[in-house]
Amino acid sequence: MKRFCYRCGALEAERGPLVGGLCQRCFAEGNRLLQAPAELEVTVCGRCGAHLLGKRWHGAGEGDATANAVRATVLSNLKVARLTDAGVKFLRPHEVPELELRVEPKLAEGVIKIRARGKVHELQVNPQLEEAHIKFTLKRSTCDVCGLKSARHYEVILQVRGKLTGEERSEIRKMLQQLAAEAGKRDRAAFIANVEERREGLDLYVNPASLARQMVSMLKSRFGAEIKESAKLVGQTRDGRQKFRFSILARLPAGEVSFKREKS
Ligand SMILES: [Zn+2]
Ligand SMILES: [Zn+2]
Repeated sequence: MKRFCYRCGALEAERGPLVGGLCQRCFAEGNRLLQAPAELEVTVCGRCGAHLLGKRWHGAGEGDATANAVRATVLSNLKVARLTDAGVKFLRPHEVPELELRVEPKLAEGVIKIRARGKVHELQVNPQLEEAHIKFTLKRSTCDVCGLKSARHYEVILQVRGKLTGEERSEIRKMLQQLAAEAGKRDRAAFIANVEERREGLDLYVNPASLARQMVSMLKSRFGAEIKESAKLVGQTRDGRQKFRFSILARLPAGEVSFKREKS
């Protein structure tokens, strides 16, 4: 018996394998690959360029922060149809095998153009080509981390003490700031909220405590610093636990802080 498309009558022998009773063309016409919202709101931090996906902020990444934010927002809102014997499923783009996807934000026009190439059903001989346009609005906001920074939030005060020349002090400050910058690449919430230069040394206000510990271990291994930790009860958290403010005192031994010796 000859099999044919139930919609247009084309013969399977001429048009290729039927998919769910439809010829290749009728199947593609009746099954959209992309499910895209008509409009999107893209939220970007006005200070650091991070973007909001759902309830979580993500770092700006390399290159143009706004374009990255648009792309990430599109990818987290776009769904791709996949039809199997179990029925139709809507998958996230990265879950679909052999999907080619191009997201082109037209920032000036407020439109995102999406071009996709992929198969809805594995029996399709050729992948479908599809285009979608999403209107978007850009919303400027302040991210969680920039909020903490502007509130000068900190977990630990690290006090660096010792007989230091001005040069040594600024060298140590630079090293600690570099350590924080490195940590900030892995964890957005790692930063120094404030540095205070005092007559007796440096006070650094550090987030989170784990970064302060990295700084301490560097001061110990490079300069033989002696460490003293203390905690002061400052109140209660909302769920009734005691809240402490931690300080760490790192005392550098006199006469051992030499960068020139270190380098030679
Ligand atoms: Zn047909
Ligand atoms: Zn930010």
